Amino acid sequence: MTSYVFITGGVVSSLGKGITSACLGAILESRGLKISMIKLDPYINVDPGTMSPFQHGEVFVTDDGTETDLDLGHYERFVRTTCGRNSNFTTGKIYESVISKERRGDYLGATVQVIPHITDEIKDSVRAGAGDADICLVEIGGTVGDIESLPFLEAIRQMGIELGHDKVVYVHLTLVPYIATSQEIKTKPTQHSVKELRSIGIQPDVLVCRSEAPLPDEQRRKIALFTNVPKDAVISAYDVDDLYKIPEMMHAQGLDDIVTKQLQLDLPEADLSEWQAIVEAKRNPTSEVNIAMVGKYMDLKDSYISLSEALLHGGIHTRTRVNIHYIESADIEEQGAGCLENMDGIVVPGGFGDRGIEGKIEAVRFARENGIPYLGICLGLQVAVIEAARNLAGLDGAMSTEFHRDTPHPVVALITEWQDVSGDLEQRDEGSDLGGTMRLGAQQVHLAEGSLAATSYGATLIEERHRHRYEVNNNYRAQLEDAGLRFSGTSVDDLVEMVEIPGHPWFLASQFHPEFTSNPRDGHPLFIGFITAARQHHEGILPKVAEA
Ligand code: GLN
Repeated sequence: MTSYVFITGGVVSSLGKGITSACLGAILESRGLKISMIKLDPYINVDPGTMSPFQHGEVFVTDDGTETDLDLGHYERFVRTTCGRNSNFTTGKIYESVISKERRGDYLGATVQVIPHITDEIKDSVRAGAGDADICLVEIGGTVGDIESLPFLEAIRQMGIELGHDKVVYVHLTLVPYIATSQEIKTKPTQHSVKELRSIGIQPDVLVCRSEAPLPDEQRRKIALFTNVPKDAVISAYDVDDLYKIPEMMHAQGLDDIVTKQLQLDLPEADLSEWQAIVEAKRNPTSEVNIAMVGKYMDLKDSYISLSEALLHGGIHTRTRVNIHYIESADIEEQGAGCLENMDGIVVPGGFGDRGIEGKIEAVRFARENGIPYLGICLGLQVAVIEAARNLAGLDGAMSTEFHRDTPHPVVALITEWQDVSGDLEQRDEGSDLGGTMRLGAQQVHLAEGSLAATSYGATLIEERHRHRYEVNNNYRAQLEDAGLRFSGTSVDDLVEMVEIPGHPWFLASQFHPEFTSNPRDGHPLFIGFITAARQHHEGILPKVAEA
């Protein structure tokens, strides 16, 4: 039977609840447990697919094609179990399900209410997401005290009563600020946050206190006293310079023992050697590279969190320090591509909307002409095709119909029908809803024998996750191949999945998102290959662009 760890947050948002949950998952997994992870989000959007990355950071896509909260990316980077459609529930999704049941008459005439109908739906969803795991970690989005999260908190309170103290652990994450002017560490916000949580019937078993420096004993004692939490269960989550140090930091304070003791589990010691090896590799690089990531929303790093992490994973596995330079593509439009001159690699990430699109195309041209390693992801493949069409194949004005509906050369365009993961035909055109109408999730890709793609993967059949609406127009493929592009990856129904330029030292783009399947322990072949090439560029040992 599955036990549950519920993780709530207090005082302020952005304390790193997702990472804390993921790290606790990693430690428990290292003790031989099967872990599942769920995120409950109090907002009303059915999923984050339609939300601007400006507001909510990256949309993370699971194998089964669910568009989810970016915290699920943290989960998959720290824990082996993959997430899916039952790993992320929003208020919108819960209500959608309850309302459709009500319309079907499932409630047999009852007045449908928040308690018990919404709370029951939440509990059912949590149980579905838990699957057959030994421990399911459930993170509740938002901050205790928000109106929106009340039904979720009520549902997890009920689960505690129903399952008992030895099956449910409540972890509460708070902020313990340091006031520089008076040189004081303040525990009052934590006291108030716990008071708020207790007023809705939840007594936390563990407090994880975020602070700049390790929490002194005196403050731990004070917090314990005021919150009714044993002092040993007041864990200090102080700032560290490397995310991957957190499992060790929390284990050193006995967090996993507190949890497993309460759940009455007799387990082997935690083995964190894999995490220690990662920290070690990051601490001792043998070289470094400068990578330009050219996109929009560059001031909001959360929009590309999986991609940035995947690049760093490439560094971990090649012992390379990866310095990522976030460059606004609109700046390249205004000031030219000069800022890319000292870069060892250029990445154009996925994206939607036409702002800065010409800057991205220019970045591709710069990488192609100067023999700088190029990695294009999703939109980054589409701009690579547009650039080649314009500058290699002489197709003036070539564009994606996403940005210019009447382009003379629609080298990237909508296909009006797409077979979705379950094999059903899905109509896609300009009039389609924006939510859930993309080619989503893991699909098979065939790689051409001997291509850079196939050598990087060491395979000719792979599976990667998608999230896009537009496709390379097959009618232009022959012409583009004559001009020097190689379509080295194709889908089961012969759509373009990967593009490369044979004469270039390292130029590879994918229609899918490899960053979603990269994790620090294994790395990912494309990112390892890209960072290796960038490193050779840095050391001046990369071959130059072959003469056409
Ligand atoms: N906007 C492009 C499309 O919908 C690319 C999407 C992406 O980069 N994720 O096809």
